Amino acid sequence: MNTDRKALWAVRQSALPAVVRPCPDCSGTRHRPSGRIRVNANGKLLDVWLLLSCAACDRTSKVPVHERAHVSSLEPARLVAYENNDPAVVRELTMSASLAARNGYRLDWTGTWALETRTPLYALDDPAPLEVTVGFDLPAPIRVERLLMLGLGLSRTAVRRLVGDGRIRLPLALDAKAHRDFELTVHGPGSVDAAKHPKPLGTPTDLDHVELPRLAAGA
Ligand SMILES: [Zn+2]
Repeated sequence: MNTDRKALWAVRQSALPAVVRPCPDCSGTRHRPSGRIRVNANGKLLDVWLLLSCAACDRTSKVPVHERAHVSSLEPARLVAYENNDPAVVRELTMSASLAARNGYRLDWTGTWALETRTPLYALDDPAPLEVTVGFDLPAPIRVERLLMLGLGLSRTAVRRLVGDGRIRLPLALDAKAHRDFELTVHGPGSVDAAKHPKPLGTPTDLDHVELPRLAAGA
């Protein structure tokens, strides 16, 4: 079997998620990181907060990251990063699902990512299977079906049909949300459905339409 055909689809970050929780000063709920981390020392005990700004009124609020943590329990490099408002650490804390769960807020990932693909549009016509690695730059939960629609330039119906017919093999359910790297395989026309769905020669099926992404995507 020819497995030389490989593609990488990259989920690129375009923004940080919004922290969704009530603002004490206004009716707004969306917060963005202010870019700052506050560290308070009380003897050997440290409090560390991520500082947020309300998107509506700019009010600053704090998310506890460490509470009364002994200074020896933190990596020195980590402490330096906190004290310097290291943008990588601000990013990590803002996207942290465990920090969100611990503090009872939700993350809104809308508008935080874009899918970058370099898969040529004729990829689905090729009889050789295409191995696609979907790589995540950020842990944004994205419905698998949506990734396939974007990556292949196909409608929801066409994607469901290809999966139902075994042309697309996935490690996850179509309606599952992926948030980390996974691989999928797209099998060429005839390689799967010919055996599975014998049909009279020359009779077009619905599947024939979705094998032409140029029609679906270019119209
Ligand atoms: Zn506010």
